Formats: sequence, structure tokens, C-alpha cells
Amino acid sequence: MGGWAIAVHGGAGVDSRLPEERQAAAKRLLAGCLEIGADALRSGAMAIDVVEMLVRELETDPFFNSGRGSALTARGTVEMEASIMNGPDRRCGAVSGITTVKNPVSLARRVMEFSPHSYLAFQGAEDFAIEQASYENPFILDRLFNGGLPIWTVGDGFAKNGHVGFRDCKFYLKQFDYRVATDTCSGSVGPAMSFDTGIQMNGLPISVYAPETVGCVVVDSTGGCAAATSTGGLMNKKCGRIGDSPLIGAGTYACDLCAVSCTGEGEAIIRATLARDVAAIMEYKGLALQEAVNYAIKERLDGGKAGVIAVSKDGEVAYGFNSNGMFRGCATEDGFMEVGIWE
Ligand code: ASP
Repeated sequence: MGGWAIAVHGGAGVDSRLPEERQAAAKRLLAGCLEIGADALRSGAMAIDVVEMLVRELETDPFFNSGRGSALTARGTVEMEASIMNGPDRRCGAVSGITTVKNPVSLARRVMEFSPHSYLAFQGAEDFAIEQASYENPFILDRLFNGGLPIWTVGDGFAKNGHVGFRDCKFYLKQFDYRVATDTCSGSVGPAMSFDTGIQMNGLPISVYAPETVGCVVVDSTGGCAAATSTGGLMNKKCGRIGDSPLIGAGTYACDLCAVSCTGEGEAIIRATLARDVAAIMEYKGLALQEAVNYAIKERLDGGKAGVIAVSKDGEVAYGFNSNGMFRGCATEDGFMEVGIWE
């Protein structure tokens, strides 16, 4: 064992009717990220820089539910959230309620590096982004809004990037439920989709076709681990809702043993403090990485649906999910690379 390793995810809970070409596009995007990360790690990059860089790639591409592809709130607005953690010194940064920053993960990194705090949200986080913006870090500020509407959804909604956009979101007012066994649902996929599955979550009808959160965990060649997670949150969430992704210990955690990023039903992940739990199981129960991931998924979610990616300081990679699929991939120093969606 040993050497560097990377794992990335593009979210847990995948509609089994997802068209082949979108499955292929997801895999291409994840594989491209792994290649960028592998190049950086071969040149001696640190884990914290690689997780930030790869999550930024995923936020910048509208495919997944983060950054540019963020899911919309019930009011048709964007409230992005992200977090990042460096294992060796357990420094961390997190942001929530972000509407105008192109790469929330980089803002989270700047909270970690340049603020006296760990977590900034809503207007305070936006103000901090403006304070931090400069020619040296132009990726931070990129006004995504145009006359109050997110520009990437104006006029075309679903058709443009495959996500349910502003008009569609307002029209359908649906929410995603990771617990649904999608094969039994009656909706059809595509712009003219019927969302009427007859199944509800929190009293709302749900969609089986929704964008997904992203995350990355890396161990570098010095054995240092880092994790980062970024999301637009649940589609049609209430304004002000904060999920697991920006919460250190829930959606993201890194320490000297391992790094973990989670995805899935945020409320269940928060109750389980899932990311920290994987590390704690290794630490206190002495289990290996994959065993710790399996244990946490099986024992801690109380019926919630979620997925986990993790790496250890020894260069191991582990995945686990109890949802219907998880977009994920990994690469290791010995040349192994894979991407997958299903079991
Ligand atoms: N965990 C995210 C949230 O609840 C959603 C996801 O992972 O897709 O906000």
C-alpha cells in the first residue's frame, strides 16, 4: 500500500432510466477530472490543492448539481454550498447560501486560509467573496445572475444543460427522493417528462430525474489526505435550507487517517455525522477503510439513502452507497483508474 490516490463522486441516487448518452457524458467528465488530478499528483501536488482543483472542474461544468449546474430552490433561486478540509492539520472552510460565486469550493478554501472562521453563509459569505476577489483569483467572482434569474436557465430550462431550469422548476415544483426504487416509477424522462410518480417525500411529489452533488477525496504522495464537497442542494429545497455538504463531519471530513466526502439525503447524512463516522470507526474500532465505509452506510443511516467516497493515508480507496447508483471514479498511483455509476 501507499502512494497517491483520488476518488471523485457526482452524486448518489441515479435514475435508472438516465439516457445512455448522459451516462457516458458523466463518465467522461469524471474520467477527465481523474486525469487532471493524476497529472497534478505525479508532479507532487498536495491533496488540498487537488481536491479544490477537481471540485472546481466539476462546478464549472453544468453537468452535475454544483456551481454552474446547481439545482434551484422552491423560489427558483440558487443557494450553493461547499466545504473543504485538510487532513494533516484538520483546517477547514465552508460556505452556504452562495448565489453569485462561480466556484464555491474556492470560496470555502479562502474561508479556511484567509478568514478567522470556519464557515460563512449567505450575505456574509458573499461579502467575503467580494473582499477576496482580485486579479489573482478571478475564479472567485463570476456573477451568474442576470436580472435576478440565473443566466444558464433563462429561456431554455431543461433543454440547455439537462437540468430542470427556472421555468420548469417553478412549473413542476418537485423534489428528488433518493429512496425511490426508480424502476417502479411511472414518469418518463426528457423535456416533456411527466414527473407524476405518485410518490412523495416530505409531503411533496418527487422527481426521479435530478442533478447530483459533487465531491473529491485525495491522498497525496506524502500521505496527506483532503476532502471537498460542493452542491446546489436538493432541488426545490426551501430557501435557507442547509444540507450536509458544507457541514464538516457530515458531508466532508479529513484527518491524518483518511478523507471522506458524502452525497445523498442530506438530512440523514447530518443525523449520522456520516463523514466523521467513517473516520471514527477506523480510529476507535480499528476497521480498514472499506470496512468502515460499509459499516457506516449499513448502521448509521436509519433508512436514509446516501453514498460515500473515501481514501486513507495508506493510499486505499473505498466507495459505498445504498442509493440507486452513484456517479464515481478513482485513480491510484499504480495506474489503476475506473469510473462507474451502478453497483
Ligand atoms: N447531500 C446533498 C444535500 O442534501 C444532495 C446530494 O448529495 O445530491 O444537499
